[in-house]
Amino acid sequence: MKRNTAPQPHLIFMDSPAINTPVDFTLHQAAEADFPTEYGQFRIFGFEGRIRQPGGVRLEEAVALTLGDVLSAPPPLLRIHSQCLTGDVFHSLRCDCRAQLEIALREVAAEGRGLIIYELQEGRGIGLLNKLRAYELQDNGADTIEANEQLGFESDLRSYLLPGAILLHLGIPAVRLMSNNPDKVRALEEAGVSVAERVPCIADAHESRRGYLETKRERMGHLFDEV
Ligand SMILES: [Zn+2]
Repeated sequence: MKRNTAPQPHLIFMDSPAINTPVDFTLHQAAEADFPTEYGQFRIFGFEGRIRQPGGVRLEEAVALTLGDVLSAPPPLLRIHSQCLTGDVFHSLRCDCRAQLEIALREVAAEGRGLIIYELQEGRGIGLLNKLRAYELQDNGADTIEANEQLGFESDLRSYLLPGAILLHLGIPAVRLMSNNPDKVRALEEAGVSVAERVPCIADAHESRRGYLETKRERMGHLFDEV
């Protein structure tokens, strides 16, 4: 696989789905290393994105795991995962994040090739402590969206500038995206990456996260059957 060994800044101008105007976006590859895991022998990359926008510069970090040959056809499987400390580390059942991450790692391992892009933005961009505040509001009867609105956040702050730029940097113009969210397909295509196929990524509906999954399906347009 062709890779840039030295950190290399890139300047990309593209339309951001979030603000709908051209933004000045710089991608910097900080590191690349071998990464053996229970699921297979990955490579791990560290990336930093700088988005210059009217309010100032926003920094975003992400990790990309690649397995096997991701450059040849057909397009490789890709999962874009948003950091979830409570799910990923503590195996929380308030959400399906870890279950979906494990499904993605298993499917990539089964195909022998593919990528996981892991974005370091907790709670869909609102931050860890605000996510915990939202849990408190949910314990008092609000759903995920209402809780974020009560805290003054939009229901989903993610954009796909950074994953899109990472894929193009790695030389991957098309992917098979593991997601139940049609907005992710659109956002990634707006970020310049073609989505050849959307592959469902459906976790078992454990009783304690049933309400969360129902909110995703009914109010956020995610595509899976009733839970
Ligand atoms: Zn989660």
